[in-house]
Amino acid sequence: MRTSRSRTIPILAALAGSLLLQGDPRALAADAAPQAHDPFAALAADSASILDDLRYLSSDALQGRAPGTEGSRLARVRLAARFAEAGLEASPPGFERTFRWTRRNETEERTGANLVGVRPGSERPGLAIVVTAHYDHLGVRDGQVFNGADDNASGAVGITALARALRGVPLRHTVVFVALDAEESGMRGARALVADPPVPLDSMAINLNLDMVARTAGLLWAGGASHTPALRPILEEVAAGSPVELRLGHDRPGAPEGDDWTHQSDHGAFHDAGIPFVYLGVEDHADYHHPTDDFERVDPGEYMNALRACLLTLLALDRALPLSPS
Ligand SMILES: [Zn+2]
Repeated sequence: MRTSRSRTIPILAALAGSLLLQGDPRALAADAAPQAHDPFAALAADSASILDDLRYLSSDALQGRAPGTEGSRLARVRLAARFAEAGLEASPPGFERTFRWTRRNETEERTGANLVGVRPGSERPGLAIVVTAHYDHLGVRDGQVFNGADDNASGAVGITALARALRGVPLRHTVVFVALDAEESGMRGARALVADPPVPLDSMAINLNLDMVARTAGLLWAGGASHTPALRPILEEVAAGSPVELRLGHDRPGAPEGDDWTHQSDHGAFHDAGIPFVYLGVEDHADYHHPTDDFERVDPGEYMNALRACLLTLLALDRALPLSPS
């Protein structure tokens, strides 16, 4: 896929150059139109607004996006607007799906809110890829805002970027995009989604979960193949074409403490429900769960390359499903 893109770009650049020389901007616009169906071109074209969303979600104005706060609501407003731009079907109207949960050692019930947007598949609409990322973070502690730029504004903005890039691109399977709440409180949003699913649980072929996808330093981990061996060749193919090193792992049961990430993020709730998962995320870094996980520490080029890898993964899963039984 990278080969064909790199071949396309010089031709387009040459074409754009010659049209510009002719001084006819309408001709350039007309010729650029078919590119709308290349999701990688669309993703690149959206980079400024993607980075602006990342800056906004991880700004002090959103106060660390703790569940039930005004910052959490503001994050949903921005993400829901992007779901709408992507042409996703709102399920329910307004995309918001609330749930009740109780914090450990507390009796007071709280309300959480997931955002669910759906695009029906063209060939097998009864089989769904559930693309998730949590948008909540740790809020304010001891007067310090935990902005959670990498964890996980990067993933939440990332799924809206994928959805927008894929607008108008036919996919065989239904894709359910979900921005999840209350992951940091014990994957409450993911557990609520699995307990009260927007599409039948047995139609969920796989969960693709993005959590911390900005700070790659050149390496993105892909988990899930140890549990579902049929994923291995699919992910190896993605790795071969990925603009960032994609390494399979962090999913081996019985691995030393902290090395098996099977239950380290929302994909754990899907795994517990018997649904295969692919987890994409970075190695822990010094700013992980610190107030220094800020937008300024994200390298825009690294983040966009990680999103290209996420898009490659989603497209590969759509081509490969259904997974052969393992
Ligand atoms: Zn996280």
